[in-house]
Amino acid sequence: MEIKTRFAPSPTGYLHVGGARTALYSWLYARHNNGKFVLRIEDTDRERSTQPAIDAIIESMKWTGLNWDEGPYYQTKRFDRYNQVIDELLEKGLAYKCYCTKERMDEVREEQQRQGLKPRYDGHCRDEDPSKHSPDEPYCIRFKNPTSGKVGFEDQIRGYIEFDNAELDDLVIRRTDGTPTYNFCVVIDDWDMGITHVIRGEDHINNTPRQINIYKALGAPVPVFAHVSMILGDDGTKLSKRHGAVSVMQYRDDGYLPEALINYLVRLGWGHGNQEIFTMEEMIEYFSLEGISKSASAFNTEKLLWVNSQYMKTLPPERVAEELQWHMDNQKIDVSNGPALTDLVIAQRERCKTLKEMAEVSRYFYEEYSEYEPKAAKKWFKANSAEALERSLANLKNVTDWNDIESLETAFKSVAEDMQVGLGKVGMPLRLAVTGCGVSPEMGITMKLVGRERSIARIEKTIAYLKANASAEPTA
Ligand code: GLU
Ligand code: ZN
Repeated sequence: MEIKTRFAPSPTGYLHVGGARTALYSWLYARHNNGKFVLRIEDTDRERSTQPAIDAIIESMKWTGLNWDEGPYYQTKRFDRYNQVIDELLEKGLAYKCYCTKERMDEVREEQQRQGLKPRYDGHCRDEDPSKHSPDEPYCIRFKNPTSGKVGFEDQIRGYIEFDNAELDDLVIRRTDGTPTYNFCVVIDDWDMGITHVIRGEDHINNTPRQINIYKALGAPVPVFAHVSMILGDDGTKLSKRHGAVSVMQYRDDGYLPEALINYLVRLGWGHGNQEIFTMEEMIEYFSLEGISKSASAFNTEKLLWVNSQYMKTLPPERVAEELQWHMDNQKIDVSNGPALTDLVIAQRERCKTLKEMAEVSRYFYEEYSEYEPKAAKKWFKANSAEALERSLANLKNVTDWNDIESLETAFKSVAEDMQVGLGKVGMPLRLAVTGCGVSPEMGITMKLVGRERSIARIEKTIAYLKANASAEPTA
């Protein structure tokens, strides 16, 4: 039998990292078993479903690399099918028309509350003869849930879970306005789409017995269920916006690599020994439902940052550059005029934890800076800085191969020796001159990437600045 899983988000907002993790587990399970992965948009709630939310889900799935083999299916396009099955259930006497008015239902509920009972439908119309109602009288359709016995399932994460049928009332499967309801659509979809394993959030455990009873009434195979625990914030409550970023695309915006986010999410609630970093191939190979933890996991941004920096350092620079390009565009840095992004990645990846940060600290490779970083300038621009720069410049102009990092390094290091000053007194003014910043990769590589012409022009400009400044207000 071919394994088939699905991710079935309701498009009412951005894709939450919790949803992404559920999608990832479903995806991995399908990939591990050479099965299929289906994307289904559960948009039956027309009030709350939006096109931007659908777009955000699809964008998030694409960015994280969770590719689907079928879909996206849309529940709103399948109403005819749901209604056809409902009609069949009616014909077979497995569902019935309920003519109860809102007033009657309110009375029943009040009476139940008075008696301290759980509010539920009392089965009033279950065995009633519908012919006594006029054709234009409004009704909804309810599923005939078994009234006795138990309904249970072997949850692949949590073990056997069982409910008393007496606890479940007769679910509305078609509303008075003719629209099918959520719990019914899910069953028909999973049946029609041949889903063998339903991996979803634990908030759906209570829907499962109702859904199983519908499968049974239809004579449809009941899929295997696995309910994943939730993700908590650092304070032990359910992860939400209060804890910081929760949307997948926000993590892209914040400078994370999708590979890192996926690796972090797979470990958040699943393990294979103590291994922390997995290639995608390893994740697929090792993934199992038994490895998923029953307890809730706490989201830890520090650890995610660590995973991200690991990936920045170890992925092929070409791959990191692809993602970096997005951040350069986002920060409006035109990279056509400067070093190749792969070279930039190699120069910066040890010192940056995110791609957003990498873009932020790399602007000077592509554009002129507008001021010297004030703190660094105050600390390093001294009376002898102009001389240090003039001497360095003279040496640099003699470097025949600007790609020869050694020669670029020697050109200013020898000045420190000649002037008998510490290396910082030459290197730091030079760094400020070439980058405008107090921090950059080593000066040899920095000057190489900034380029000969640009480096020389910036040093000349800084010498002029220092001289003008020295005559105005001398620094000692
Ligand atoms: N649409 C449901 C949700 O977003 C998921 C339903 C399911 O996985 O069965 O919570
Ligand atoms: Zn009724």
